[in-house]
Amino acid sequence: MSGRTYFDWNATAPLRPEARAAVVAALDTLGNPSSVHREGRAARRLIELARQEVAALVGAEPRDVVFTSGATEANMLALTPAYEPSAEHPRRCGRLLVSAIEHPSVRSGGRFPAELVEEVGVTPEGIIDLPALARRLTALAKTPPLVSVMAANNETGVLQPIPEVAALVHAAGGLLHVDAVQVTGRIHFDIKEMAADLISVSAHKLGGPMGVGALVRRAGAPAITEPHIKGGGQERGARAGTENVAGIAGFGAAATAARHAMADDARRMRGLRERLEAGLKRGPAVIFGGGAERLANTSLFAAPGLKAETALIKLDLAGFAVSSGSACSSGKVAASHVLAAMGVAPELASGAIRVSIGPTTTENEVDCFIEAWRTIVAGLSRDKGGLAA
Ligand code: PMP
Repeated sequence: MSGRTYFDWNATAPLRPEARAAVVAALDTLGNPSSVHREGRAARRLIELARQEVAALVGAEPRDVVFTSGATEANMLALTPAYEPSAEHPRRCGRLLVSAIEHPSVRSGGRFPAELVEEVGVTPEGIIDLPALARRLTALAKTPPLVSVMAANNETGVLQPIPEVAALVHAAGGLLHVDAVQVTGRIHFDIKEMAADLISVSAHKLGGPMGVGALVRRAGAPAITEPHIKGGGQERGARAGTENVAGIAGFGAAATAARHAMADDARRMRGLRERLEAGLKRGPAVIFGGGAERLANTSLFAAPGLKAETALIKLDLAGFAVSSGSACSSGKVAASHVLAAMGVAPELASGAIRVSIGPTTTENEVDCFIEAWRTIVAGLSRDKGGLAA
């Protein structure tokens, strides 16, 4: 990738060397993990080691980790009305409440019928509106809902007040699922401290391979009673199908590497993000969610009048891989639902560019990016005879 700068770590992170080594070793391990012979047991050991490593990253018990094909599938598995009744939570979940800034895999409602899915708004800084959530929970007291709120937003990096959300949800008799994809391996995130009942995790955001993730349950939280993939009894019956042994082994290795490095990495990345944003603010720039607590590696911004498509192409030609704050589907650039929920005007939202950096990002890369950005913004003001207000 000589001459290229990868600033799209929230989309996917480079494979960590430890994960690569674990994947390669696992690919050379013969045996179906469900077989009882020595070969099968060797494959099983790789999975159980990874289960411990993923559990250790989020403060869970290994037996409460269910491996899936990624966080999209983990979200699908979690978002069901069918939970085991318990003393704390005696009934099925009557509805699903999700924040308006969730990933599409959560906003889709998972296995809930569409008419039972509701959204809860966010503040202009992109933080879930806690009073609005409390009001909905009170109104739904007879049939407590499942609530799904992400730990950090993938576009803005804004962190959500999960312990406060959990306290509200549990006081109302509901259950809380947290999409923890963007925080795991980046900040300390312990499922018990957060009091989430279930969390979704994805390997490729923390330096593991793509196509593997997990749904993790807090010890003692109610179990899902209806698996979404039925067949063999793998994953204690929670998710049938022969396990992706190599992917899971890579996930485990990445989880351990991330756990050891994350505090130092976050400190470094915060300094680089501050440097980036100071550079951006020397010109016309709006930083979305800039006043909120955010992941250290993420910055979502726009220069008024500059379209994201234009900026993305120019930055790509200049050697930078960044992302727009807009979701692109079938060739059409749709406005970001996250910025819309934050009340950002469509004009400004259509210029949103996301830079997401990683532990190997350098000061020089940040400085070169600022230079390239300033050139693009200056070009715009020349084309238009001045920037739009
Ligand atoms: N949730 C969030 C917040 C994400 O950023 C992503 C990845 N874009 C997902 C879920 C889906 O994860 P996966 O790619 O493992 O399906």
